[in-house]
Amino acid sequence: MVYSREKHLAYMNKYYYKHREERRPGRREYYKNFRRKLKFDVSKHYGSRCACCGETNINLLTIHHIDGRHEKIKLEDKHSGIYIWSWLRRHNYPKDFQLLCFNCNCSIKHHLKQYCTVHHPELYDCSKPPRKTHYFRFQRLGFQKRRQEVINHYGNKCKCCGESHLEFLTIDHIQHSHQILVQNLYGERLYRYLIRNNFPSGYQVLCWNCNVLKTNLNNELCYVHHPEIYDSKPSQIILKGEEIK
Ligand SMILES: [Zn+2]
Ligand SMILES: [Zn+2]
Ligand SMILES: [Zn+2]
Ligand SMILES: [Zn+2]
Repeated sequence: MVYSREKHLAYMNKYYYKHREERRPGRREYYKNFRRKLKFDVSKHYGSRCACCGETNINLLTIHHIDGRHEKIKLEDKHSGIYIWSWLRRHNYPKDFQLLCFNCNCSIKHHLKQYCTVHHPELYDCSKPPRKTHYFRFQRLGFQKRRQEVINHYGNKCKCCGESHLEFLTIDHIQHSHQILVQNLYGERLYRYLIRNNFPSGYQVLCWNCNVLKTNLNNELCYVHHPEIYDSKPSQIILKGEEIK
């Protein structure tokens, strides 16, 4: 039989579609392991802990570009989610990146600062009057006041881990996170909405760490602090000492 490239490709194509469904679980497993290993490798290179507060739980760590935006990554148009982790590995772990936990990462108030306001207040000179940036405009308009009012009302600390620094806290829509996106209800709009509606139930205070880790929307608390309320371990969670294949 004479080898024909067209025939071969046609056969491969047919084979792929015929077996696609049965191979799907294997593929999913492969990518799950790939992501876990990637995250593990990269965080090891960057010290395995939050550069600001020292948090070592790998599930709470994210990549922070020390000097501002991810210009280099933007060039390749892959700058979010898992891509940044693989980008770092491909580029042999460039120096101007660090690991931060979600709490520290979300409370950096200036893109040129390396650490958060809670653990390194000395980096933030509060004696100067606020400049007219977007952030301070919101602050002047009572954004901080509304935020404080809402968070006070819903309990003043993270319901999951007890974190009480205001900078680390956020409002979590307990069951219908999707609805928030649909209605564009977050930040300023969410605070206004909650105050206007006299603090409806269904919301709670979580810190950024627990909010990110609340991987299952049916549960109110995160897996790391409250594994007992989960039926099974969410696939993206990596436990201490767990073997990475
Ligand atoms: Zn931290
Ligand atoms: Zn910090
Ligand atoms: Zn928390
Ligand atoms: Zn938690």
